[in-house]
Amino acid sequence: MSNRESLLGRCVATGLTWFGQDCPLCGAASGPELLCAACAGDLPVLPAYCPRCALPAPGGSICGSCLADPPHFDRTTALWLYEFPCDRLVQALKYRAWLALAGFFAFRLASRPLPEVDLIVPMPLHPRRLADRGFNQALEIARGLARHLGRPIAPRGVLRVKDTPPQTALPYEERAKNVRGAFLCKLDLSGASVAVLDDVMTTGATLNDLARALKRAGATRVENLVVARTVPR
Ligand SMILES: [Zn+2]
Ligand SMILES: [Zn+2]
Repeated sequence: MSNRESLLGRCVATGLTWFGQDCPLCGAASGPELLCAACAGDLPVLPAYCPRCALPAPGGSICGSCLADPPHFDRTTALWLYEFPCDRLVQALKYRAWLALAGFFAFRLASRPLPEVDLIVPMPLHPRRLADRGFNQALEIARGLARHLGRPIAPRGVLRVKDTPPQTALPYEERAKNVRGAFLCKLDLSGASVAVLDDVMTTGATLNDLARALKRAGATRVENLVVARTVPR
């Protein structure tokens, strides 16, 4: 194994970046950064969006569907659209265990104006999926964010008790039914403001179900922080 390969292996294992690496998207030298400046600047920006559900809304006002049927969460901050090349980065973290990306996402989230919260809850994985993957990508991102924000993290206080099929395998209208009652919160969150960390927000049904569980446990406010938002075309 070459020096460079073993260095890459160590960086993947520890989530560290190193000097003189190449940008994973274009291969250009990116120095100490994970992505080169051009690729980082090209990540797909979300248009003005509803502050509650992060779907596009004119002028960034609350959208009609959140007004008509408010979700259990209070606000969503999303970094990018779940489109190329952001989708490749999220998939590289999740399926190729490129943990350096978790630090990159955490840093970019921490650069946004974020609410004051008492606790960060990473979206839990069902134990069976955790065993398959070996790590929870949301927890990896949340760890980095907790360091930046100086806030505690609750890695084990909220459990995923129902192993739901992937949301993408289901028709849109089936997704809310698929996740209902999937979470159990063992924490007393009375009066707490909670940030939920997830990699991708697709329909919002899973995040909504988790927010319901957190509010039942006493949380007064639930804020979603997500790397990428799927926007229906
Ligand atoms: Zn690049
Ligand atoms: Zn909305």
